Amino acid sequence: MNKAVITIIADNVSDRGLTAEHGLSFLIQAGCESIVFDIGQSEAVFSNAAILGIDMTEPQMLVLSHGHYDHTGGVAELLRINPEMMVYYHPDAMITRFSLHPGKPVKEISMPPACRKALLHHPSELRHPVTGTCWIASGIGITGEIPRLTPFEDTGGPFFLDSAGNEPDRIRDDQSLWLETPSGLVIVLGCCHSGLVNTVEYIRKTSRIQRVRGIIGGMHLLHASEVRLAATAEKLREWAPEFIIPCHCTGDNAIDFMRSRLGDTVRTGYAGMKITI
Ligand SMILES: [Zn+2]
Ligand SMILES: [Zn+2]
Repeated sequence: MNKAVITIIADNVSDRGLTAEHGLSFLIQAGCESIVFDIGQSEAVFSNAAILGIDMTEPQMLVLSHGHYDHTGGVAELLRINPEMMVYYHPDAMITRFSLHPGKPVKEISMPPACRKALLHHPSELRHPVTGTCWIASGIGITGEIPRLTPFEDTGGPFFLDSAGNEPDRIRDDQSLWLETPSGLVIVLGCCHSGLVNTVEYIRKTSRIQRVRGIIGGMHLLHASEVRLAATAEKLREWAPEFIIPCHCTGDNAIDFMRSRLGDTVRTGYAGMKITI
């Protein structure tokens, strides 16, 4: 596609006048496609969209990067106001899951029950629970499950399928989206629990497009080791994208680290930011 605009509707930081929240939501407009990628944690997505002049009844598709509450909190409201939307998600996005941070209470981080219910009641012909890669429009793909190949990447947190912390959650539902532009791939991430290197390399292989033009989204590097940060930055230098826009759960330390290695290519994302491609 020749032209696309990506608007950050919800993020952990925001432009003046918009609400920041621990969550993520993008509007991707490419050709005649209008896609919501993730839908934040709360009502803030809708108030931010209104301020940004975005009519949330218009997009034809919703893609969920994974089933955590901070990416799916607006599902029920979105499907209520936009009942004809096509929804793409991995079936595991519906499962119950927890985070167990040492010294903190156990937290359930699943998709909220009302949103799971709304998704299950959405017409079956509009619902696409997919585990593998698919092209949702011409030149727009979603990864489905991403092979975890690098030795230095993990899901980025203490994620479990049970509240006792016995069964690790590999977050198989984590997926990313890509746009195929004449000058390379633009990759849109949710939380990137599969790892940035695993994700980008998988998309390069699957799309058969080697050049990476830009990367935007949550990179979940806030607890990453020096080894992981260095290896990730090294790969970013090798791919040499025009822009890297870390958002949401990337972590300030990781952003500083990337900036120290990649300079002004790295620009921190915020709700209200608009990227024209
Ligand atoms: Zn997550
Ligand atoms: Zn997240």
